[in-house]
Amino acid sequence: MNKKLFVISGCSGVGKGTVINKFMERNKDFILSVSCTTRKPREGEIDGVHYFFLTKEKFEQNIKEDKFLEYAQFAENYYGTKKKYIKQKFEEGYNIILEIETNGALQVKEKMPEAVLIFIAPPSVEELEQRLRGRHTEDEDTIQKRLAQVKTELERSKKYDYIVINDNIDRAVKEIESIVKSHDAK
Ligand code: 5GP
Repeated sequence: MNKKLFVISGCSGVGKGTVINKFMERNKDFILSVSCTTRKPREGEIDGVHYFFLTKEKFEQNIKEDKFLEYAQFAENYYGTKKKYIKQKFEEGYNIILEIETNGALQVKEKMPEAVLIFIAPPSVEELEQRLRGRHTEDEDTIQKRLAQVKTELERSKKYDYIVINDNIDRAVKEIESIVKSHDAK
């Protein structure tokens, strides 16, 4: 069967991680792509599971060697998806979810027009700020940078195939499931 690639983005703190985890639990024929990054691991993050943690030098070498399907700089770090990783997961028979920011998502759409782009939006920007602060994982400076990013991301979301409002986790997951079904990926 033809396997599909779905790209899911959302503003920082929108709860996309929770929505995606729930979707993954219920849809075992999907795999969540493991990205490369130069940011430091957060507590509990494991190399090769949550990310492949690379040095800046190694990441830049991979850029030069054209190893990325897409990559972007976000909050002063590099993030990217390896072409080889995606090829391998398709060969293993999975549908793939990329949980990446908007710049990278639009690169994927250019290279693979058949990819389906889904943007998870907050019910309101005020609620988003509250969620971001409630997470207590970033300092104030980082929070400010991420909020500035929100504006850019909401603008870019206009180019996505679907926008899903995360007003309720179960409802958002069901909406993603129906999008996926409509693309014959189930
Ligand atoms: P975090 O540092 O919170 O794990 O991720 C920060 C941002 O980087 C999130 O918006 C996440 O979606 C994005 N991101 C994670 N992996 C990739 C990737 O491979 N490529 C791109 N373009 N963005 C990514």
